[in-house]
Amino acid sequence: MPELPEVEIVKQSLDKKIKLKKIKKVIVRNRNLRSKIPKNFKIFLEHKNIKKISRFSKYIIIHLSKGSFCIIHLGMSGTIHFLKKNKKNKFTNLSFYQSPILPKKHNHIEIQFQNFSIIYNDPRRFGFFEIIRNKDELYKRFSHFGPEPFSKLFNLSYVCSYLKDKKKNIKNFLLDQKFVSGIGNIYASEILFFCKINPQKKAINLNKEECKKIIYFSKLVLKKAIQLGGSSIRDFINISGNRGSFQKEFKVYQRENLNCLKYNCLGKIKKKIISKRSTFFCNKCQK
Ligand SMILES: [Zn+2]
Repeated sequence: MPELPEVEIVKQSLDKKIKLKKIKKVIVRNRNLRSKIPKNFKIFLEHKNIKKISRFSKYIIIHLSKGSFCIIHLGMSGTIHFLKKNKKNKFTNLSFYQSPILPKKHNHIEIQFQNFSIIYNDPRRFGFFEIIRNKDELYKRFSHFGPEPFSKLFNLSYVCSYLKDKKKNIKNFLLDQKFVSGIGNIYASEILFFCKINPQKKAINLNKEECKKIIYFSKLVLKKAIQLGGSSIRDFINISGNRGSFQKEFKVYQRENLNCLKYNCLGKIKKKIISKRSTFFCNKCQK
């Protein structure tokens, strides 16, 4: 499942390809994604210009002319592909988890521009598209989400006061989009390793220093992952056809029973299922 860094890479790729371009035609081949593609989707998008692409958490936001928006969520297996006209079957990856042969039956949406098309492929159909009429609606759409790790709102007073009386473990909160937006399972384990905090530690027991670390390393780990083009755990490829390389930097994720990478630590990396998700941590230095 793409997390914030991978969605950011897709956003950057889309920005290079479709910014300031005009949508000519939209073809919906399958409405049945996680939520149904709205009936007026085609009419809503056609002949609109794309002003820019932004991202909030794991959502890609396409800014359209006349102050409207289209949101894309890639779900578990959504990928976006760039197809030049007159070059049939030659897909260029914009995004993730791409097999060399793109099964056409999963090409659910096609957005055509003058010389190329953008194709949305999603075998598991957990992704979705939404149309948003104006800024107020957009604001409302994300009003129940917590701040992103990069936001100024994700600061010490916010984190300390949010967590101070909570009895659930900290791993749970890092995945809770109401607390912080965009951190997923891989990065939660990595962040807690750098913080030297055991993922099962109750939020209520975290001290101020630990809250500071959570803020600092959330930003650092995600920034680094974006710089390295995301994590290619399942053939994620960016627009230039390059794989992300952050998976080479994993300190704990998928390193079960291997030695801890912290200098002078004799611990081993353990795997535990916490809230139904695989969680990796060092049994010595994460307290
Ligand atoms: Zn360790």
